[in-house]
Amino acid sequence: MGPWILNEKYIRREKMNPVVLTFLGVSGPYPGSDDLPSVLLTYGRTNILLDAGEGIQSKLLKVGKSVTSINAVLITHMHGDHVLGLVPLIQSRSLAGSTTPLYLVGPEGLYEYLICSFKNLYFEPGYKTGVFEVSPQAEEGISKEVEIVDLVNALPTQPAGDTPLLKFSISKNSLLRLGNDVYVKPFEVKHSITVLAYRIDIKSRLEGRNVSICYVTDTLPLEETVKECYGVNVLIHDSTFASDLNDKALEYKHSTSIKAAEIALKSHAEMLVLYHISPRYKDKLKLLSEARSLFEHTYIVEKYWKLYIKG
Ligand SMILES: [Zn+2]
Ligand SMILES: [Zn+2]
Repeated sequence: MGPWILNEKYIRREKMNPVVLTFLGVSGPYPGSDDLPSVLLTYGRTNILLDAGEGIQSKLLKVGKSVTSINAVLITHMHGDHVLGLVPLIQSRSLAGSTTPLYLVGPEGLYEYLICSFKNLYFEPGYKTGVFEVSPQAEEGISKEVEIVDLVNALPTQPAGDTPLLKFSISKNSLLRLGNDVYVKPFEVKHSITVLAYRIDIKSRLEGRNVSICYVTDTLPLEETVKECYGVNVLIHDSTFASDLNDKALEYKHSTSIKAAEIALKSHAEMLVLYHISPRYKDKLKLLSEARSLFEHTYIVEKYWKLYIKG
């Protein structure tokens, strides 16, 4: 048994506060899909969404989470399958009466997208929303030192102006802190447009635990990912195609399951979850067995599955 396989009963008995990943959608895009990429990371009262595919607010209700419980959303890129659920989520959170801040992290263009959407929808969120854009220019010529950005403290210090949506440009070397225990490190990967991947470290001094997760989707397999995801408990990696469609993976800048396994192996991850699998694969076992031939602890998950991580 790995450190990640726990059931609810065990957790209740041990009075544990585990890190829980709830998969809300795991597939690549197709018309009418309700399986678009999004993962909910829960740790105590912190709820972080990784990407926001369409229909995310009703999916949260399905897994017993209210939209008001979401503290932060990390967006990888501005392709519709990863971001089209965000505007309705922000709107629903407001309609549900939430007054607590929301922290959004994403690539350049996210702020403009939200401002345009809300202007044309005649809507404004009823709470402060910090949009932290990882700016490619912010890095050039500036120190390579990691800069810690405290999301909670950053937000109220900015003048609100006439919109509750506040934009912050952060450098690629930023380490984002959310609360006392949660650290988020964005890093850039390679796709047809700018894409960010995220490493999330939960360091609880109180509980003496350190749980790490890497969320890497819509990208070619990269050495950069090996470096950034070194030693993580769980690596969630793009696995759009099986190895017979390696040419397509290169053309559309995605990964095959065997390449995802190679990244997991090289980065000494404890577990690999194959993600963003093309809907052409009715039987996903082909992808699983290919990956497992290289990296044994590879798994395929379905929508609404939960993964408990003890750390
Ligand atoms: Zn995608
Ligand atoms: Zn994409």
